[in-house]
Amino acid sequence: MNIFELDRSYIANTYARFPINIVKGKGSLVWDCDGKEYIDLGSGIAVNSFGLCDEEWIAAVTEQLGKFQHTSNLYYSEPCAKLAQMLCERTGLKKVFFSNSGAEANESAIKAARKYAADKNGSDCYTIITLKNSFHGRTVTTLAATGQDSFHQYFQPLTHGFVHCEATVDDLRKTVNENKGKIAAIMFEIVRGEGGVLPLEKSFVDEMVKISREEDIILIADEVQVGNGRSGKLYGYMNYGFTPDVVTTAKGIGGGLPIGITMLGEKLKDVFTPGLNGSTFGGNPICCAGAISILQRIDDKLLEEVSKKSRYIFSELEGANGVESVTGMGLMVGVRTVKDAKAVVSECIANGVLVLTAKDKIRLLPALNIPFDLLEKAISILKKACV
Ligand SMILES: *Cc1c(COP(=O)(O)O)cnc(C)c1O
Repeated sequence: MNIFELDRSYIANTYARFPINIVKGKGSLVWDCDGKEYIDLGSGIAVNSFGLCDEEWIAAVTEQLGKFQHTSNLYYSEPCAKLAQMLCERTGLKKVFFSNSGAEANESAIKAARKYAADKNGSDCYTIITLKNSFHGRTVTTLAATGQDSFHQYFQPLTHGFVHCEATVDDLRKTVNENKGKIAAIMFEIVRGEGGVLPLEKSFVDEMVKISREEDIILIADEVQVGNGRSGKLYGYMNYGFTPDVVTTAKGIGGGLPIGITMLGEKLKDVFTPGLNGSTFGGNPICCAGAISILQRIDDKLLEEVSKKSRYIFSELEGANGVESVTGMGLMVGVRTVKDAKAVVSECIANGVLVLTAKDKIRLLPALNIPFDLLEKAISILKKACV
């Protein structure tokens, strides 16, 4: 059997894979088993922040591999402590809990918010407001948090206590009033990724911050996709001039190894005590050593590059033939095309460019350091595919 047949025979049928067997990558280029080259505008869904086989990341990971690969959270180790310090110093948040994925990072945020709210306001203060068209993960609880009905089918009953609201000031006020005194948290993506690459309006964020301060509601920013430099700032919320009480992240900070991070601000920093949360692999030294190498390179110079490339993508695609609209922030871009998005993806693949979709849009999540010439080439191929 070839790889396609092996995969279809033995792997659960959860992914509608494209018929591409990737065997090698370097930076923003990948090659399939037939030697065909592709420019990667997806970075493994915002994971490979510095592309594939990035030398500095390989060096950091390999150095740690030669020391020890895992110990357990019963002992101290340097990579996770250093990574936590770097994250707190750069965000102003106070404490970090490590896990292995975005969904787990969100689970821990939900646990932290519910514990805080129950301690303070009693055990019926547990409701969490999330946004329509959000995506927060695949566990039973983060599916409940996800504000898209299509994800809820077949898995009922989901975790109780989530309500979904439109990302509008009016619907937020209404939802808060309907659940008065019972709301533990509001959880949101600064740019909803899977839901169509939709940035929040500044007026909505300002209202959310105001309500949360008045009512002592915890704000949880799910920065799993938009975080770690992708928005043009280190974290997406930094574009809006406020600091959430909890920030979760994963994907891009791992650079390709699994890591989940829940950062807790002043209010929640002491909410967890020994035994209340844990993860066997959480804070794994290999993953943390890699993440340190990623995080320390997301500096002002790189972020300026991200913004510059973002401006280039928007200016090329806005008003282009076959393009209806362009949304997003930084190197997280959604493109509504006249043609069916799936047809555009297929045409891009045929011409050597990998792009993603988000609902019925094309989604672009290139590596933060994609070279300008490759970006130009890929965007021109995408533009042709849209016509
Ligand atoms: C991908 C994603 C998740 C889930 O992350 P996993 O690592 O797949 O569990 C959660 N929230 C957002 C915003 C995401 O984009």
